[in-house]
Amino acid sequence: MNKKKNILLSLLLCGLAVSCKKAENRESPSKSSPQIITKEQQDKLTGEEVLKDFMEGNKRFREGTVTVRNHTKRTRTLVNGQFPKAVVISCSDNRVPVEDIFDQGLGDIFVESVAGNFVDEDVLGSTEYACAVAGAKLIMVMGHQHCGVVKAAIDNVRFGNITATLYRIRPAVNISLSFTGMKNSRNNEFVKFVSENNVRIALSEIRKKSPILKEMEDNGKIKIVGTLYSPADGILQLVK
Ligand SMILES: [Zn+2]
Repeated sequence: MNKKKNILLSLLLCGLAVSCKKAENRESPSKSSPQIITKEQQDKLTGEEVLKDFMEGNKRFREGTVTVRNHTKRTRTLVNGQFPKAVVISCSDNRVPVEDIFDQGLGDIFVESVAGNFVDEDVLGSTEYACAVAGAKLIMVMGHQHCGVVKAAIDNVRFGNITATLYRIRPAVNISLSFTGMKNSRNNEFVKFVSENNVRIALSEIRKKSPILKEMEDNGKIKIVGTLYSPADGILQLVK
């Protein structure tokens, strides 16, 4: 009888332990969360590896299998320093959540958001800091489809300070006039074409106006790529 009781008690305790373990996993996702990378780990990364990591993360984002992270814990840890894997120059459009798109966490990406994802002196300064000081290995200029700023530039909108912002996008519109088809903001294919050219201009500006970043690229210390994100399906395509 005592033996039976002991077995029953053991089974109960065992079951309780499993239940507690399951509850712990649910409430503390940090236990399975990827850790923030250290400087030593960042030093070993290459731009090509980071790009591959981001593309795999984008696949998880599209499939709805993103990683659960403990943001509170990561924020506390990051107080000690930042070692981003990449700098992403993206549009500030709220349909373009940069970390989510690549299934990355706090501390992984040095995000520079500006409406129209153009490159000016301020963005160049931030990018040089991200790569030459903070150690990022990849620069990605990421445009997106259905961009309101690009559409406004196509329509030649003039309104307050937005006029100056749109002036930065006009060169992309001007080099897109070879497009075959309707060249207006209602034609999504034309808007996409202009957005791709806008990314190409940003890549060119980085290489032309930042000798620091150009030298880092030439020496293989960083990789520079352009992409176009589709908010409709989460797909990211390379812009060459
Ligand atoms: Zn946009």
